[in-house]
This record gives sequence, structure tokens and C-alpha cells, in this order.
Amino acid sequence: MHDSKNMGMDTICIHAGLKDNKEGAVVTPIFQTSTFKFQNADHGARLFKGEEDGYIYTRMRNPTVEAMEDAVAALEGGYKALGCGSGMAAVHTLFATVLAAGDHIVCCNAAYGPTIVILNDFFTKYGVEVSFVDTSDLDAVRNAMKSNTKMIFVETPGNPTLVISDIAEISKIAKQYNAKLAVDNTFMSPIYQRPFDLGADYIMHSMTKFLNGHADVVAGIIIVNNKEDYTKFRKTLNMLGGVIDPFNSFLVHRGVKTLGMRVRYQAENAMEIAKYLENHPKVEKVFFPGLPSHPQYEIGLKQMSGHGSMIAIELKGGYDAGKKLMDNITLFTLAVSLGGVESLIQHPASMTHAGMGREARLAGNITDGLVRIAVGCENLEDLIKALEDGLATV
Ligand SMILES: *Cc1c(COP(=O)(O)O)cnc(C)c1O
Repeated sequence: MHDSKNMGMDTICIHAGLKDNKEGAVVTPIFQTSTFKFQNADHGARLFKGEEDGYIYTRMRNPTVEAMEDAVAALEGGYKALGCGSGMAAVHTLFATVLAAGDHIVCCNAAYGPTIVILNDFFTKYGVEVSFVDTSDLDAVRNAMKSNTKMIFVETPGNPTLVISDIAEISKIAKQYNAKLAVDNTFMSPIYQRPFDLGADYIMHSMTKFLNGHADVVAGIIIVNNKEDYTKFRKTLNMLGGVIDPFNSFLVHRGVKTLGMRVRYQAENAMEIAKYLENHPKVEKVFFPGLPSHPQYEIGLKQMSGHGSMIAIELKGGYDAGKKLMDNITLFTLAVSLGGVESLIQHPASMTHAGMGREARLAGNITDGLVRIAVGCENLEDLIKALEDGLATV
């Protein structure tokens, strides 16, 4: 593997994680095997004792999976990474490793819906205490801390209004209480935000989104920054079994090579689209970290090196306008998810956040006319034209 410490992010994307191999393959091949042959009884025994480095069984370790993990760990500046079968498998493994009965977790209220549900409906069953707070408000974080708080979990920018939380300041609060800070870095990707540099202890991603980037894989990952944590997390993942498979690892690793190029192109498109929408007569409000009108614009400048490509807009016409736009827009695919090369659009009030009820939605600024746009890599003029025509029908 290349020493990536002093290299640029695109160089890391393209080169990190390649396994040297005697055949000279330029990309790590797909080791589509469940198990690995021992040379003899002694060899098998040494591998199981950890006296010799090698592969035993794919749930525990696999070269294709490891190549992808090493690439993502290098991008985040971490020690090692753990590939998971989905972003939610990563969330589950993270919580199951760090939290035990009697522990308390502070979780941002703008987290991905299923992250909130897994805490509320599953971890509370095992005696974990949960508080959801607006983590963009540091006093609210301080007030939520307890003597048994073991973890703060922050997603920033958060779902779906792109509220930004101050990672460095929250990490100081976590340290005061001897708690760990975990960051869901899915929306920014390591290209624009590196939470370890800001004091986070753990990072996770839904690799389904930007890291893979082509809307054809469901996968997740946890990145840790020391050996002790790695050993603990690897044990949980081996036992719970939510690992990624070699083929999906290969696809994600392939996607990672163009991560920088894709993310920057998408962000450029998104900036122009956000400016266009901010001046559109049918749009009440635009939530975009790249616009000075974003409530935490300054915090974004401090901790992110770019503004990403997720945009939320509030339509003046409310719920009906939202549905109308969904039914009439072209080019933007009506679908949940984000981070792929294709632009997507969805209406949280009737889709992703319909189940939480109107009152809870409004408390989280998810108004009836809110529309979430994931900007892709199409030509800007085509995207603007599609928005123009779509909004004309509203
Ligand atoms: C999609 C997503 C997840 C969950 O990931 P899956 O791969 O769908 O399991 C978690 N966090 C964020 C921010 C996401 O966008």
C-alpha cells in the first residue's frame, strides 16, 4: 500500500488500498470465496492464534473487502475501517460496540430516520437511555449530558434540512464527560469533511451514497483511529455478522477512485442550482450549506472544505405543490437516496418523513412544501431546464 499521509485526496482515492499481487493486477481482484485453505494443521493453528497474518473465513477478513476498507480508512485519515452490509449495519455495529445497559447516548434529532428508530425501538429494549437534541445548539448538547453518557452521535449536515453541528465544539463536550463522539459523514464524504481532524472518535458512512456513487450497491463502513477500537469493533461485526461481501466491496472500491471528481462536479452543479432556486418566485426558502443564508453557514466554512450537493427547498404552495412537482418534473428521478451520479428528488412530507406525523415534522422544520434534491453529474443547463419546467406546473 502507498503511504498516503502526504498525498492529495484524489491520489488517495485512486491508489489507496491496492493489494500487491504476484499476477500484477492493477485493481484488487474479487476474491469471491467464503473460506481460505490452510497449508497444514500448524498453519491453521497459527492463524487462529493470531501468530501469523492471513485469511481464514470471509466473515472475518477477505482481501477484496480489506482493499476497499484500507482505501476509505486512508481517505478519512483513520487507522482502519470495517466494511458493513449497509449503512444501518454500520450504525448497529457502532452502537452495539460502545453502548451497554445503563448507558446513555445523545443523538442529533436531525439524524437519518432509521438511526433514530434503531435507538428508540431496539436499543431502549436493552436498557440504553436515549436523548435526541438539536446538536446545532451547543447549550442543548451540554444540557443533555449525564454522568452515564457514553456517546454523542452527530450527523452533519443533517437530514433533511442540512442543519450543521459544530464537530470540534461537540468533541470538547464529549471529552469533558469521557464520552465518545461518532459522526455520520455520509452527506459530506471525506472529500469535504474529515471528522477525525476535528476531534471525532468514530466515523461512519452509508457507502450506498457518495462513496460508491452509482446507485447500484447498499453498503456501509465504520472508520476508527486506533488499534484497540479496531479490535473491539471487529469482534462485534464478526459476531453480529453484518459484513459487506467481496463483490460489493469491489464495486465500492471502483466508485471510490472517482469520488473526488464526482463530488466536486456535483457540488459545482448544486451551487448554481441553489442560487437559481433562491431567486425563483415559487420557492419560499432554500436550505444549502453553500449559501450565506444557511443558518450555520459560518460553522460550515470552519469545518467543511466544500458545501456538498444536497439541497432542500420549501415551496410556497405547501404539500400539494410538493406532490405536483414530484409528478411533473423530468430528468430528476423521483426516488430516495443520494450521492449517485444521477439527480434525485423526493418530498419528505409524503415520503421519507410521512410516518412521523405532521406535528413532529414541523418541530424538525420539515414543512409540508419541503422538497429534497440530490444533485448529480448531469449537465447544469439540463438540470436547470428540468427545474424550470417542473416548477412552472406548480
Ligand atoms: C442512507 C443513510 C444511512 C443508512 O444507510 P443504508 O446504506 O441505507 O443502510 C445512514 N445515514 C445517512 C446519513 C444516510 O443517508
